[in-house]
Amino acid sequence: MSELVSRNPANGEELGRAPIYTPEQVRAAVQAARNAQIGWGQASVQQRLCALKRLSRVLVEQADAIARLIITEQGKNQVEAYGEVMTALELVHFYQKNAARILRPRSVSPRLGILRAHRIVPRPRGVVGVISPWNYPVTLSLEPLIAALVAGNAVVLKPSEYTPLIGLKIGELFRQADLPDGLVQVVTGDASTGQALICAGIDKLVFTGSVANGRKVAALAGEHLIPLTLELGGKDAAIVLADADLDQAAEGILWGALLNAGQACLAIERIYVEQAVAEAFIQKLTEKAARLRVGPATDPNHDVCAITTEAQQNILRHQVQEARAKGAQVLLGGDPLPGRGRFFPPTILVNVSDDMSVMQEETFGPILPIRVVQNAEEAISLTNASPYGLTASIWTRDLRRGRQLLTRLEVGDAALNDHGTSSGHAEISWGGCKASGYGKTRGEEGLREMVIWQHISWPRWGGQLMGFPYSQKKVNFVRALILLLFGTWKERWRAIRIMLAKEAR
Ligand code: NAD
Repeated sequence: MSELVSRNPANGEELGRAPIYTPEQVRAAVQAARNAQIGWGQASVQQRLCALKRLSRVLVEQADAIARLIITEQGKNQVEAYGEVMTALELVHFYQKNAARILRPRSVSPRLGILRAHRIVPRPRGVVGVISPWNYPVTLSLEPLIAALVAGNAVVLKPSEYTPLIGLKIGELFRQADLPDGLVQVVTGDASTGQALICAGIDKLVFTGSVANGRKVAALAGEHLIPLTLELGGKDAAIVLADADLDQAAEGILWGALLNAGQACLAIERIYVEQAVAEAFIQKLTEKAARLRVGPATDPNHDVCAITTEAQQNILRHQVQEARAKGAQVLLGGDPLPGRGRFFPPTILVNVSDDMSVMQEETFGPILPIRVVQNAEEAISLTNASPYGLTASIWTRDLRRGRQLLTRLEVGDAALNDHGTSSGHAEISWGGCKASGYGKTRGEEGLREMVIWQHISWPRWGGQLMGFPYSQKKVNFVRALILLLFGTWKERWRAIRIMLAKEAR
């Protein structure tokens, strides 16, 4: 197979084709990016931001075309499709206002290094590889891409094999924005193209994808010693406490679980509810979920849209089947809708047990298993028992207690009475912990990771502090310095005596 066939998940129609780049072509793309980076890296932050202003203009002008492509190729609702354009624009705007400050060189005055001036300056890394998934194909490609460019790097993007036309569109946007030729390269293809990119001599990689592939990527990047940001999967929990506003909790959790038909890394995939309110909460959640409209994203009133890939649909089927077989009760949904398109209705499971795959493994679809707990302690310990650590939320009226509980959750993003609240905010960096990955994208930290913080120094007064030949005098000096700086008052007096002693001078 030398090309990818892109299909609309809502009806199976072919949308177009894209080449699968060979390793030689990937290497050529990296080399072209490297050539273009030389001038770009030497430009000032202000000059680069000026060029990126043109990207903002193109994004605004092309918002309808981009959203249309997201709807047809990936399948999410129109509100969320436009949201992807919005997040990219927000990030450019944030860096316009803040990049110069974030990337400002700073002087350091080490107390043992006063003979020299020291400065920490940002150096672009060179060529940044971005490997992105299909679920937010614009946001998750553009966020690292924009940060890399602002920091003075060139970028080679490898979009998902399920959304290659969106990848090609991203390349076109940068051409329309008139950025230097070759600075942004898009290499379409599958996992093998991603592997080729890692081996093609890039200087940093941002990988967003599954934990299983993240492990393979980390191993390969490790062989080449490429600095890595890993944004991986989650098994995110919502904890409903007995004092929660149950209507608010049910509505908030439904949205947090079913946005993009649950195909979001931060989507709620397990609910722990305190015994005292379990029955009432489950009833409210089921009633509200039953009212959601399932169907293609061409109708803006459809809340839960297509399941993008066949593989994903199979995972959903398998998890529900296994849960049923182990004794779970399906209160709503449970089976894919018949027809050519891939649609899975909101599905609510109760009587679930902790050993079911629907409670352990990433679901990435509109399935909500509910587990009753005795108290908040049990819910927190079950939440933290997962190998994943992306997001979690607690639903309670007691904001003071809730805030304390949030700090005990082993996740990158924790919220009270809402879920995944950092997403869409350019100012807040994004990233998980544990098996959900490491490093940050977006925000201040996301930009800082795109440069090497290089130390440069030059003489201020006199010559070198240390140097050959070594002697007893120098040994005495270092010994005395240790006592002088870190000793008790008595030891400091001893240090002064050592320094003044004849043999020390
Ligand atoms: P995936 O791991 O199958 O693929 C992601 C990208 O990596 C694709 O472009 C794919 O071609 C490429 N790839 C796959 N194997 C590779 C390899 N061995 N070497 C190099 N490249 C390789 O993930 P997906 O199905 O596209 O996306 C869904 C997954 O991504 C879910 O697990 C989801 O939780 C995760 N995700 C995480 C975040 C986050 O920010 N933490 C955001 C979105 C999605």
